[in-house]
Amino acid sequence: MHLSPTRYIFVTGGVVSSLGKGILAASLAKLLQSRGYSVTIQKLDPYINVDPGTLNPYEHGECYVTEDGAETDLDLGHYERFLNVRTSQANNVTTGRIYQSVINKERRGDYLGKTVQIVPHITDEIKRRIKILGSKNKYDIVVTEIGGTVGDIESLPYIEAVRQLKWEMGTNALVIHLTLVPYLESSGELKTKPTQHSVKKLLETGIQPDVLVLRTNHDLGDNIKTKVARFCNVENDAVIQSINAPTIYEVPINMLNEKLDTTVLRKLKMPLKHEPYLDDWNEFLEKIKNPKSEVNIGLVGKYVELQDAYKSIAESLIHAGAVNSVKVNLTYIHSENINVENVAEQLKGMKGIIVAPGFGDRGIPGKIVATKYARENNIPFLGICLGMQIAVIEFARDVMGFDGADSIEMNEKTPYPVIDLMEEQKGVTEKGGTMRLGAYQCNIIDKKSRAYSAYKKKEIFERHRHRFEFNNRFLEDFKKAGMVPTGINPDTDLVEIMEIPSLKWFVGVQFHPEYSSTVLSPSPLFVAFVKAAMS
Ligand code: GLN
Repeated sequence: MHLSPTRYIFVTGGVVSSLGKGILAASLAKLLQSRGYSVTIQKLDPYINVDPGTLNPYEHGECYVTEDGAETDLDLGHYERFLNVRTSQANNVTTGRIYQSVINKERRGDYLGKTVQIVPHITDEIKRRIKILGSKNKYDIVVTEIGGTVGDIESLPYIEAVRQLKWEMGTNALVIHLTLVPYLESSGELKTKPTQHSVKKLLETGIQPDVLVLRTNHDLGDNIKTKVARFCNVENDAVIQSINAPTIYEVPINMLNEKLDTTVLRKLKMPLKHEPYLDDWNEFLEKIKNPKSEVNIGLVGKYVELQDAYKSIAESLIHAGAVNSVKVNLTYIHSENINVENVAEQLKGMKGIIVAPGFGDRGIPGKIVATKYARENNIPFLGICLGMQIAVIEFARDVMGFDGADSIEMNEKTPYPVIDLMEEQKGVTEKGGTMRLGAYQCNIIDKKSRAYSAYKKKEIFERHRHRFEFNNRFLEDFKKAGMVPTGINPDTDLVEIMEIPSLKWFVGVQFHPEYSSTVLSPSPLFVAFVKAAMS
């Protein structure tokens, strides 16, 4: 039990979106954690969807899944990768979820007699969700990132909730505002006006930011910082520059050099404790900056125009590259562009192939052709979720002679439903939050398998997000033909891992190993896959 109250840090954004509030929040949290504080991060998203689970990745990038089965914003992936601490349902809240709880309460009669309004009912619910993470004194510090940009209609109730909390909590709460200082090539000048306007916008809502973080691609120098400090009523040392970094993993170090952590702790009236312990983080950075060799990996998917759609996979490959002292050159290959004629050209030079997760039938034929190419040319292969299902379908059709074998998702009338709907999914009609979600146990049943040599243990827990499963009716046929299950769910007997042992490294997993890979605890499966691709 901590005696001192939980402190709250709110991160807002101004000027433009995509400035990297998530990375800033994660970097600050990392520094505070490395000084010995327990920290968690929460993201508040101002859209009406109850969660991003039903959003097309083109809209909002990857849907990240927590151990307890929440479908969340991809920023939670950054939080886990940076902090190496698990997040949960409570770490991501959307406007949809807030309204849903308020309306449910209204229907139950909890507000009987009262008019239900944005202030105080919606704002109170926002405040309650923010405070949940700090209750029971589990964390010293909660960092809350407010999605969107100050001035958006959608984020107004959040900003109002922050204003009230700041008023109630005094120096136990603090607001960091992230803005952009653009550089005008024509005049060779850095411009602070957008920042000034954005802070004014925040002031109109009644919030005086305590710290300003300015994104820039040129060094700002003391003059600009002093000017911003003067115009925006913040102390000189509370104007922090965040210069573009070659990798997101360098941002905590940049923020340390800018003394963001000490400024924040001073304002929160918390002791600095010890210097940040970042040895293992720096060791990781050294490794990614000085690789001994390079390896080309191809990621076959259908959302390749938007690389955020595969964020966790890309980051897992960076973590795995560091362990293997290799730079992973990741090429995104559009599955809709792959066919039998051009597959050799499309996958040329790839030393390892990943077939990505996904839903629906767009791009499936190309994924099947790419998987066949990997199998026939003995190129290390990792099939993730849909990728595993594709490997099963391809093997059934091509090796076992099961013509027309398919997943029920793509063809309900297939004569060989090698991937089928789970029994408990059959009556499900609602799309939101109804898949097999979150961490499940998988027992690795073969000590000679690639999976066992990667994980080096029999019991593993990995996260899931799917409706369809390997159909155990065909298990014996697969085994006889040379594709074998090596990981099984002990409670349901569902197949979690399939391998072709006669090949160098060919593994399909029904789960998503990419969600649990962090800087300090990289996914063993990605590490083994990258290693196989190198040899
Ligand atoms: N569409 C497949 C299913 O629902 C795979 C899902 C995924 O790749 N995450 O089972």
